[in-house]
Amino acid sequence: MTDRVARVGAWLDERAEEMARFLERLVAVDSENPPGRALGRCARLLREEMDRLGLSPEILGLPEAPGDLEEPCLVRGTAGDGGGLVYFHGHFDVVPAQDRAQFTPVRREGKIVGRGTADMKGGVVGMLYGAAAARELGLLGDGRIVVHLVCDEETGSVAGSGHLRAAGLIDPAARAMLTAEPSGGSIWNAARGAISLRVDVQGREAHVGQANLGVNAFQHMLHLARPVERYAAEMAGRHTDFPMGPGDAPGSMLVVGGLSGGGSNFNVVPGSAYFTVDGRFNPEEDLDGELKRLTGLIEDAAREIGATVAIRTTQVQPSASTGPDHPAAAALARVVGEVQGGPARFELCPGVLETRWYAQLGIPAFGYGPGRLEVSHGPEEYVEEAAVRRCAAVYALYAGDMLG
Ligand SMILES: [Zn+2]
Repeated sequence: MTDRVARVGAWLDERAEEMARFLERLVAVDSENPPGRALGRCARLLREEMDRLGLSPEILGLPEAPGDLEEPCLVRGTAGDGGGLVYFHGHFDVVPAQDRAQFTPVRREGKIVGRGTADMKGGVVGMLYGAAAARELGLLGDGRIVVHLVCDEETGSVAGSGHLRAAGLIDPAARAMLTAEPSGGSIWNAARGAISLRVDVQGREAHVGQANLGVNAFQHMLHLARPVERYAAEMAGRHTDFPMGPGDAPGSMLVVGGLSGGGSNFNVVPGSAYFTVDGRFNPEEDLDGELKRLTGLIEDAAREIGATVAIRTTQVQPSASTGPDHPAAAALARVVGEVQGGPARFELCPGVLETRWYAQLGIPAFGYGPGRLEVSHGPEEYVEEAAVRRCAAVYALYAGDMLG
């Protein structure tokens, strides 16, 4: 172990208990999104801890936010005051729990189990303590870390990161951005783009005894879904050149019919039917072109049978990537190798990442966090306490290398 890893590690180890206790308190706030509950309460808890850590926190309210978010806001903090800038970015909303007991965190065998521990309250704790360590140990030279914590990542971050971008709060001159998503110790230097659609088919209701007078929206929907399924199979066969984690498929991924439904009763010809399409597209794909192709397939199928269809695009999120040879990527790989004691792995994140909001402005942006993707969003979600401290050390040393 190098001297500087030992020094940062010692600073963090001294605070291992307070880090774990703070994570437990964060997990106990049920900031489920959707619907976006308890966001203000979670933000105030973060502000209190950031204040204690000397990170000059402020809460920015987002009164214009769409949807049902409760007290939508973002939390911003700073370590250091120099001209150079590195962003630490996280989110404090969590996906809905499988069981309310997930909001009572359990600490056992070096792990903390509970909703949001991996995705990504554990990572947020690592970032806050990493930023504090960097400042207190004098690593930041003539630079500063700005921390952005948003409230609605799990539903696309329109309110949080959307506001950061719209209000010009992301400085394109920043040297790098890190987000603590559950990469399991790998570096996510690329992430997929997303397209989500809802397809509504209209028919005409009629009693089963006079079904001949109706127009069956369900039958029409089946006809429209078929070409989308063929499209999904084709996209699954178009592989990315980016390395991926074990178990991750190299094709673009689509779910057809994640939500579907319609009709008013078993004995009535359904007058309406709908299904959703949700896709995660490799960075090599042209998202706008694929959106046109996908909606074209559905419209063509509707024309064939005279179906009435409305297609609503509910989400388009661009992919993001920073090459592994970029100096900011190489620097991160060096620090990760130094702290983890082995070569760092670059991988494509199989989902979307908030790195896109920064990468679009030309900022090198990476996902790197202590959680594991395979337990995130699941009933047994956990994070290892030692992994949180390891990541915190990486955050501190990386900021130091980029700024010092
Ligand atoms: Zn996340």
